Amino acid sequence: SGWRIPSVLWQAKLLLRERLTVGGIAVDATVGNGHDTLFLAENVGETGRVFGFDIQKEALESAEARLHDAGLLSRVTLFHEGHERLSEVLLPEVKGQIQAVTFNLGYLPGGDKQIVTRPDTTLLALQSAYDWLAPGGLIAAVLYSGHPGGKQEANEVLDWAKRLNQKHTQVLWYQFLNQQNDPPTLLAISK
Ligand code: SAM
Repeated sequence: SGWRIPSVLWQAKLLLRERLTVGGIAVDATVGNGHDTLFLAENVGETGRVFGFDIQKEALESAEARLHDAGLLSRVTLFHEGHERLSEVLLPEVKGQIQAVTFNLGYLPGGDKQIVTRPDTTLLALQSAYDWLAPGGLIAAVLYSGHPGGKQEANEVLDWAKRLNQKHTQVLWYQFLNQQNDPPTLLAISK
């Protein structure tokens, strides 16, 4: 039939689409060129808000242009800040109101491959994102292990996620076991 099990990126979108509602608040913790930011902005509707973080100015400029071209820039606030500063940068009233947070770890495709997300800051950001989620909120993190440091980061993230209490948190790890060359995997966390 041509049907395929959803790819990691597609599965992330399926979960996010299921979770996000019109008027919702979402965060893109790794904006890059803004593909996920745009997807979040589409799914929170005209009355929703999206907050995005990236440490690379050029990435934010490219994301801003993409959002502008789609007519959705007014729903989005981009911060030239590390995601580890989430709890200092977002307004306190956002705490407990975030429906979904996306992470897309590693380096920016087409950008400087030396600039990658790092375990220490990634873990701080994940913990903040988790703390700031609404009840029933979702974190969708795409993990890459093919670049230097990537495997270490992915392992640290998984170790953190494994320890979240199953009484109030669901933790899913979605991956294709037989793909070669370190394919990305999806970590989905729902509180
Ligand atoms: N989803 C993005 C897109 O649509 O293009 C790609 C994201 S790329 C894989 C990872 C991004 O994380 C890079 O743009 C990089 O600059 C950013 N980054 C690295 N460390 C960061 C940090 N501490 N806080 C926020 N962003 C960071």
